[in-house]
Amino acid sequence: MDIAATTGGRDTLLSVPERSLFAASIGAERQVAMRLEAGRRVLWRGPGELQFGSDPRTAVRLTGLSAAEESVLSRLGDGATTAELRTRVRAAGVEGARLEQLVADLDASGALVGRTFPPDPRAAAVVAVLGLGRTGLALARDLAAARIGTVLLRDEGPVTRDDVGRGGYHPRDIGQARTAAAARACHDTDVRVRTTVPDATQPDVVVLVEQDVADPVGARSLMAADIDHLSVVVREKDVVVGPLVRPGACACLRCLDLHRCDLDDRWPMVATQLSVRPRGGPRAEDPLLAVLAGATAAAQVVALIEGAPVLTVGATLELRLPDGAARRREWPVHPQCGCTGLPEPPA
Ligand SMILES: [Zn+2]
Repeated sequence: MDIAATTGGRDTLLSVPERSLFAASIGAERQVAMRLEAGRRVLWRGPGELQFGSDPRTAVRLTGLSAAEESVLSRLGDGATTAELRTRVRAAGVEGARLEQLVADLDASGALVGRTFPPDPRAAAVVAVLGLGRTGLALARDLAAARIGTVLLRDEGPVTRDDVGRGGYHPRDIGQARTAAAARACHDTDVRVRTTVPDATQPDVVVLVEQDVADPVGARSLMAADIDHLSVVVREKDVVVGPLVRPGACACLRCLDLHRCDLDDRWPMVATQLSVRPRGGPRAEDPLLAVLAGATAAAQVVALIEGAPVLTVGATLELRLPDGAARRREWPVHPQCGCTGLPEPPA
């Protein structure tokens, strides 16, 4: 039988060691009830050929199937477990050993998951969003939509007219505290999300959403508490997502500040002025850019929580309109920062 993954539109044979297939087919785990990974669909490609999943990186094809085997395996797409398939093989006219081999192949390719699902890291995660303008609100909503279990929200200001409209707050929220209005918006997105935690609960990730300039001093307490944090800065014409700081392991916000001082010796003076809030309150944030930046920032957080590679560790993504393109810049640890424990060079 052929088992193949579709990769970038081209078919490549999966490298599944023969021994592991053999072990899967005869081992005790063989009778464990499995089901198709959530979100995967079963697609019919032609006589004798089924495809499991549509993502080119993970999709798996089984070929050389009989009509009866197609019929039995298609039930995986309806949520049937492999145990349920086993109860039907005889009536369907499929040999039990043949089904076990097909199930073992799907299992070896990563298309199946066990009945006892591992704990969901998203559901257990606590993410704090500090700064709830349009961009912060979009981010918080996206985290709720991504089923992050707890999204903590903080902003000292009220909802203004600039904050409402498509993708923003509801007009009835004008004058209300942003924190409370954002919590309502998150619950509207997913009723299961929690927006409060017991005292002294430490977030897994904190997202700092600021205007014009990141405040490296404000992030000191997060560095001291060893809390991962993502900087999002809404500037005049773009939004900078990143860096995602893993304290002691990569460039921190002070590192970036020091790099900027190297590039512009007047940066401290400019940064100080940028950090002062304008008298009229925060600047109106572009709705489209807010949605784009919110989703990008949420994806960074989710990737971190799931243990996947994160584009913004030691790097920033500069998102700008009109094309929405992202420019990625890498930022090494600054030798004078000392945040990773490296000795500072002699003066
Ligand atoms: Zn640093």
